[in-house]
Amino acid sequence: MPVERTLSIVKPDGVARNLIGEVYRRFEAAGLKVIAARMLQLGEREARSFYAVHKERPFYADLVRYMTSGPVVVQVLAGEGAIAKNRDIMGATDPKKAAQGTIRADLAESIERNVVHGSDAAETAADEIAFFFRSTELYPR
Ligand code: UDP
Ligand code: MG
Repeated sequence: MPVERTLSIVKPDGVARNLIGEVYRRFEAAGLKVIAARMLQLGEREARSFYAVHKERPFYADLVRYMTSGPVVVQVLAGEGAIAKNRDIMGATDPKKAAQGTIRADLAESIERNVVHGSDAAETAADEIAFFFRSTELYPR
C-alpha cells in the first residue's frame, strides 16, 4: 500500500465540543501522521468553493452555514493508504449508518453535524490539500 496524503477537517461542531484531541488521538492510534495543521474560520465564499461539488444538493446552503459557523482545524494526514484509512476511521456520513467505533458513530450529532471531513479519493485529496496548504507547509518537506 503506497504512502498517501489526505485532507482532514475537524468541523465547527467538533471544535466547539472539545473533540479536537479525541479526533487526533484516533488518527495517531491508527498510524496516521499529522504533517500539517491549522485552525481557521471559513468564509462563505471559501466554504461554497470547498463544497462546490455539492452545490446542486438540497443540503448545500445549510452545509455552508454550518461550516462557516465557527473555527475548524484542518490537517494533512499521511500514511499507508491514508485516504481510505481516514474514511474508515471517520465512518459513514450519517452517524446512524456509521460502523461502531468510528468517529461519526461515536461522536456525531447528525448527518450534517458529523465532526469531521475527509477527502474521498486521490484526486480530491490533492485538490483539497492545495486548497489549504502550500507544499512548503507539509512536513517533512
Ligand atoms: N451532508 C448533509 N446532509 C446530507 C449529506 C451530507 O448535511 O444528506 C453534509 C455533511 O456534513 C457531510 C457533507 O455534507 O459530511 C458532505 O457530504 P458528503 O456526501 O461529501 O459526505 P462525507 O464525504 O463528508 O462523508
Ligand atoms: Mg465528501
